[in-house]
Amino acid sequence: MRYIYCPQCGAKLVGREIGDEGVVPFCESCSRPWFDSAYTCTITLVVNELDEVALIRQGYISDTYYVCVAGYMKPGESGEETACREVKEELGLDVEALRYTGSHFLPKRDMLMLAFEARVKKGEFHLSGEVDQAEWFTYPEAHGRMREGTLAIRLLEQYFEGREQQMQ
Ligand SMILES: [Zn+2]
Repeated sequence: MRYIYCPQCGAKLVGREIGDEGVVPFCESCSRPWFDSAYTCTITLVVNELDEVALIRQGYISDTYYVCVAGYMKPGESGEETACREVKEELGLDVEALRYTGSHFLPKRDMLMLAFEARVKKGEFHLSGEVDQAEWFTYPEAHGRMREGTLAIRLLEQYFEGREQQMQ
């Protein structure tokens, strides 16, 4: 996202040279630059003690494909806090262990995704209103229900490839 007007006071921004950054949109009344920015979101692969994966289906995304729990970060939250909050809100489950697995920029959606693996106890879901369905899937089942080429399916593959290596 590139700012043209100041998000705080609405004044038109002007270009100003700022060190190594080059020319940056600058608000003269607030006296601050507005760097190009992207939304930051978390995406979390939720796995239980049986190595089953919790996936959700949200009608506004797709009627057939399942996705990972994901959501926007709120100001003041760490990525870890967002990931745990989203798992709780969308599935009603408590995260017992969380591991950060890397960041991924999605240019089409102008989003930076922070990816996590969350370990939870297998339990009943208590779904948020944003979620139409959630289910526990084995790896092959999960793979068959996710859209090819998405970040979510890459996270799924990455997790189970890692599990195989641990067992060899
Ligand atoms: Zn301003």
